[in-house]
Amino acid sequence: MLEFDNVCFQYEVDDYAIMDKLSFQIQDGEFVCVIGPSGCGKSTIFRLVNKLLTPDAGRVLVNGQPIETQKNYCGYMPQHDLLFPWRTVRENVMLPMEIQGGYTKAEMQKRADEALASVGLSDWGQKSPRELSGGMRQRAAFARTVLTGSDLLLLDEPFSALDYLTRLSMREWLLEQWERDQKTVLFITHDVEEALFLSGRILVVESTPMTHLRSIEVPAGYPRTREELARPEILSLKEDLIQMLRRDAK
Ligand code: ADP
Repeated sequence: MLEFDNVCFQYEVDDYAIMDKLSFQIQDGEFVCVIGPSGCGKSTIFRLVNKLLTPDAGRVLVNGQPIETQKNYCGYMPQHDLLFPWRTVRENVMLPMEIQGGYTKAEMQKRADEALASVGLSDWGQKSPRELSGGMRQRAAFARTVLTGSDLLLLDEPFSALDYLTRLSMREWLLEQWERDQKTVLFITHDVEEALFLSGRILVVESTPMTHLRSIEVPAGYPRTREELARPEILSLKEDLIQMLRRDAK
């Protein structure tokens, strides 16, 4: 679904490279978390996938094709919901369709309402985003991301600004969405527990510049419950991951 093929990248103003010949692959339908300390370049990976940045060398491929030749191949959701306060929730969710064009207003409204219903916000479309709780706003932002129509979703720490209990519910909610929609999800987090709860596979950023990502399978299936996080092999993996991140942070 997604492939980095020997990608090199350095920000012009920096005197160090972020990635050097980085290659990795994500398969169709996977839920993969990328973890690494702050500033190691996780978000840069996303900016290269959504074409905000261009590699200095190497290629980024989606479905086997270089991304330069493609449109609407990924949906991106940042840490903050970025809902426009002057639009209703429904108008916010309609935005990707307005940008893509080719929809009548009635079609956009219908699809936005269906998407809002799918995230449990049927009665909230006419409200202003400020009337929603933090978790509800992120659900609306997720509905908007899904309405890009892409099978590849890039989620950049989408729950980190939420309080702890809301974050737990949102993780469970996100897995339900993923199991139902069968999208491919690449999820950035620096929270080891979040990565263990959500992913089938974790990619750990082990070095700067990034020359490789260490791939670790999570020994648990789906549907997943929070109780599974207490299993000895998951706890031991959690410790290993914390050690890896600590070493990187030095
Ligand atoms: P992460 O998502 O892992 O926290 P980022 O990908 O945002 O890290 O950033 C990686 C590194 O690149 C950081 O050290 C940061 O200082 C640098 N960086 C990020 N954005 C820019 C930019 N626009 N220009 C120059 N350097 C940047």
